[in-house]
Amino acid sequence: MQTVRQQMVTLLFQEVCSARDLSQMLGIEEKEVYSHLSHIQRSVASQRQRLVVIPSRCLVCGYVFDKRKRFTRPGRCPRCKAERIQEPRYQVVCRNRGRPRNRGRP
Ligand SMILES: [Zn+2]
Repeated sequence: MQTVRQQMVTLLFQEVCSARDLSQMLGIEEKEVYSHLSHIQRSVASQRQRLVVIPSRCLVCGYVFDKRKRFTRPGRCPRCKAERIQEPRYQVVCRNRGRPRNRGRP
């Protein structure tokens, strides 16, 4: 039996998810998702993996919250003050994906 956190890593490895997706799929509250995410960010680092955050974006002016450190969704856009913000989404990827393997032979 996997823990919620292990299930979350598995899901994030398979697809890009928002906190709402994860809370629905795992049957936990969104605020629990955020606390698991901060643990996952540290734990996957030791397994040659990385938690990627696809930043929130303002749906009105297109402002991207790429400087944001927290996992939660921002309340409003600092540029146009709109509150229509797309949720951040998360994904776990292999850190060295895409790098060619050295087979030791040309
Ligand atoms: Zn905006």
